[in-house]
Amino acid sequence: MSVNVSLLPHRNLRARAGESSDARDFVARAEAAAAIAERFADEVDRDARFPAEAFAAIREQKLLGMLIPSELGGEGARAADIADVCATLGRACASTAMIFAMHQVKVACLVRHARGNPWQLGLQRRIAERQMLLASSTTEGNNGGDVRSSEAAVRIAGARVALQRDASCISYALHADGLVTTARRSDGAASSDQVLVAFLREDYSLEPTLSWDTLGMRGTCSAGFIVRAEGEADQVLPEPYERIHNQTMAPYAHIFWSSAWCGVATGAVRRARAFVRQAARSSGGRMPPAAAQLTKARVSLETLRAAIQAGLATFEHHAGDPGGLTAMEAQLALNVLKVEASELAQTTVMSAMRACGLSGYRNDSDFSMGRYLRDILSAPIMINNDRILANAEAAVLMSEPPLALSR
Ligand SMILES: Cc1cc2nc3c(=O)[nH]c(=O)nc-3n(C[C@H](O)[C@H](O)[C@H](O)COP(=O)(O)OP(=O)(O)OC[C@H]3O[C@@H](n4cnc5c(N)ncnc54)[C@H](O)[C@@H]3O)c2cc1C
Repeated sequence: MSVNVSLLPHRNLRARAGESSDARDFVARAEAAAAIAERFADEVDRDARFPAEAFAAIREQKLLGMLIPSELGGEGARAADIADVCATLGRACASTAMIFAMHQVKVACLVRHARGNPWQLGLQRRIAERQMLLASSTTEGNNGGDVRSSEAAVRIAGARVALQRDASCISYALHADGLVTTARRSDGAASSDQVLVAFLREDYSLEPTLSWDTLGMRGTCSAGFIVRAEGEADQVLPEPYERIHNQTMAPYAHIFWSSAWCGVATGAVRRARAFVRQAARSSGGRMPPAAAQLTKARVSLETLRAAIQAGLATFEHHAGDPGGLTAMEAQLALNVLKVEASELAQTTVMSAMRACGLSGYRNDSDFSMGRYLRDILSAPIMINNDRILANAEAAVLMSEPPLALSR
């Protein structure tokens, strides 16, 4: 009995009219890249270095532009296809999966909110053609994960835009071909009156401020920098960030991150399963005492998969309508998904470790759970679950929980 990493069992999700993508093809290409990612995952983790080999393979498989519409040189993939790729990569190397997920969230913002702006469409063409990797900057100063608040403001003078920002955490900043960042609309604007700007590598300099020596997700290289950027005014997305955030940034981030964590949890369960099978074989078929923990891990993994599949179904249900994802019901479901998925992924990896006992606890065993555990501990704090729950309080009070289960 093997654990399938694919998150797409629903025929209705696969078979929507007008799809230009082939989900099986994406998964096969992701598996090819995951094989490389897995080979270097321990080294990437040990040295806290960018997973360069994995991203060479991801570029070779042309996965960085898969979300871009086919008329702009991409493949018009759906969110569900990206979710599958994130999970497939996550099983092999959590940092690779999270970098891929963060890049795709930025691409989704560009694709869905360009409003036909020629500079923005040109950028999408370039991303697909050159397989550009985009980094994300939302965390600023000591503001923590409050994505809906910016300190630094863009300065627009004629056809030019400039920004200086104390970005306390930008993953793979030194390895990206561009940076998509939030900023205050102008010097006089409120902190929540934000825009989203895309800068190319040649548009900005990075002055290092904080290093990245963490428990896990070490290969994301999420160091801090003062960003000094300048570009064309058209590099500011034409829609207000508030709309981009609700319609795209938060829903896509929560689905793609959850999928990456699901991949990590799946990797841990596979390893625990291999341990229990080997232990049973070597003791004449007698199961090791902690085998029940493997079953517990599998139960929480299946619950996690079901939560993401339900999140994808909610997403597909609402994404078609303009503004659909801003509906309170959709926002609540997708915010809760992030909280739930991060907790379930952590529970799963912890049970998988207990199934392996000392072999899982050791750093020097074939069944070590060290990397999975350290990586997955980032999930509840990557935009802190408590912050998300506190922000959801009003929606929880206002909306009656649904009763029907068939729709
Ligand atoms: C693996 C990983 C990758 C990430 N990649 C990116 C990325 O690419 N781009 C990006 O923008 N963000 C990134 N982040 C950051 C993430 O988006 C959140 O901003 C972050 O997890 C929130 O952390 P926090 O605990 O500091 O803040 P929160 O839990 O949101 O809040 C903590 C609160 O404590 C206070 N506080 C926090 N730090 C200090 C301090 N040093 N001094 C005084 N008060 C303080 C503040 O009041 C803050 O609001 C990443 C995080 C992780 C774990």
